[in-house]
Amino acid sequence: SSSKHEKDKGVNVQVLVRCRPLSEDELRLHTPVVVTCNENRREVSAIQNIANKQIDRTFAFDKVFGPASQQKELYDQAVSPIVFEVLEGYNCTIFAYGQTGTGKTYTMEGGARKKNGEFPTDAGVIPRAVKQIFDILEDQNAEYSMKVTFLELYNEEITDLLAPEETTKFIDDKSKKPIALMEDGKGGVFVRGLEEEIVCTANEIYKILEKGSAKRRTAETLLNKQSSRSHSIFSITIHIKECTPEGEEMIKCGKLNLVDLAGSENISRSGAREVWLLRDSLGGKTKTCIIATISPSIHCLEETLSTLDYAHRAK
Ligand code: ADP
Ligand code: MG
Repeated sequence: SSSKHEKDKGVNVQVLVRCRPLSEDELRLHTPVVVTCNENRREVSAIQNIANKQIDRTFAFDKVFGPASQQKELYDQAVSPIVFEVLEGYNCTIFAYGQTGTGKTYTMEGGARKKNGEFPTDAGVIPRAVKQIFDILEDQNAEYSMKVTFLELYNEEITDLLAPEETTKFIDDKSKKPIALMEDGKGGVFVRGLEEEIVCTANEIYKILEKGSAKRRTAETLLNKQSSRSHSIFSITIHIKECTPEGEEMIKCGKLNLVDLAGSENISRSGAREVWLLRDSLGGKTKTCIIATISPSIHCLEETLSTLDYAHRAK
């Protein structure tokens, strides 16, 4: 396959696993735990009981985050290095992949910003990435511009989560301002007609993120969508002006895609057809990180094993 070919050329794919803790309900019900995480050995084991025999299946990953892992820990260890790559001009994509209810949105978005504007300790990957990007650029006194897009993919429909309320758009809906998937001629794909918001401060991005997430939830209710079937993609594009030692001006461009995939139970494992939208992140100067999220509960065991299998094969 082409992805194998690209791997041979050194495309960097990092796969890590995060297991959420048992919920309060699960604790109250004494739900048996069938997953153990060994962070030092970077291994996850799931215990299966087959014909009264306990069978232990162990998978190795680039990194493993157990139920006690905190948002900051995952960010500092797994995501922060990727943000540096983006600022070096790479296209990087971080996917959250896993069964519904295992913490994809918690990992990517996390807790809401506090009323007083304080950064919450349970902030997820997106707000932390935004903060780090601005911190670095301001530290470097860089001349830069930044724009973001936020979209949702549901079946064949793209909803622009940044467009004004009344203009929710659909592919091929000619009566509305068209959004279309376009080939960029270099094997990449981009979405034409998306609202791009230019942002100058981290706070602006937080507001955009909150507005987009709220719109996603409203659309779910109004259009009776199942959130577990939709993908959301938050993209940040950064242009940084640089001078060569000879005094020539150069523009360095990096892009970070942050993807909250549909529940793994709803994605066909052979195709994952919709995600070809992200092909531009799979060629050229790119890095990909897959965060596979799992539940420790016995009731999720079957889907947990599929997720671990799939994530392991993505390496
Ligand atoms: P998903 O997006 O995969 O469907 P969610 O992110 O909505 O799952 O998580 C389901 C529930 O579990 C939420 O209430 C969330 O706050 C909680 N949760 C998920 N992961 C964690 C974690 N690592 N630590 C604490 N709570 C978590
Ligand atoms: Mg979710």
